[in-house]
Amino acid sequence: MTRITRYFAIATLIAAGTLLATPPAQASAKVPKSVATANPLYKTRFGSVNCGAGTPRAGSRASYRTFLIKVNTCLATAWRKSFAQAGKKFRAPKMVLVNKRGNTSCGKFPSRFVGYYCYNTETLYIYMWSTPIKNGYGLWGAELLAHEYGHHIQGLAGIRAYSLQVPGNESSRRLELQAQCFSGAFLRSVSGSIPGIAENWAYEIDWYKKNGGDQAGAPADHGSGPNNSYWLNRGWKTASPGSCNTWSAGRARVA
Ligand SMILES: [Zn+2]
Repeated sequence: MTRITRYFAIATLIAAGTLLATPPAQASAKVPKSVATANPLYKTRFGSVNCGAGTPRAGSRASYRTFLIKVNTCLATAWRKSFAQAGKKFRAPKMVLVNKRGNTSCGKFPSRFVGYYCYNTETLYIYMWSTPIKNGYGLWGAELLAHEYGHHIQGLAGIRAYSLQVPGNESSRRLELQAQCFSGAFLRSVSGSIPGIAENWAYEIDWYKKNGGDQAGAPADHGSGPNNSYWLNRGWKTASPGSCNTWSAGRARVA
């Protein structure tokens, strides 16, 4: 696969995450810390997941859309497997691919985000950004989708509910970096069946290391570039959600 040089606007990419402005979940009983630090999902593995998503054709928005719809199906396959191993019930989120950031079921899709997950309606929103579509660079969208899917998993697993009890940016960073790791774990599991992922992986984690993460002047809620790169790659190395326990990690790893 041709390696694509990105002109990605950093300000757009860094915020590939959930919003703190998401309305809080309904008041409920206190969630124990062990839900985040010792979740049964950590004992599960994706292994190899056969995903016939192909690659998006450069310049075709329709092809990129089809690609993401297929990747979304493969995400459900991978996570259903993981939840079955953990003895937990799984349900897939809804996915909405948008060409313009308009209204979502959680309010307005802010211009600084490219991906957004609404916990209340269990809906993923993916902004169909023109640059990767033009280049036919599927890894961008697959990684973003897998990250947002990670927030859905955190919602189902009770991890997000625990995080809401812990105020401050560190809790947000642990959540975001875990979603990065979940994304890396999934991408590894399908890397044998989706062309262009393994070939571009080194470039991807290097890009995150140098350009990703919280930028000066913005809230420190997603973690540093090196830590984003680290957790993404940590998931990749194992193809297992078990390597994604950011909740037990030392502070430097979630800075
Ligand atoms: Zn996120």
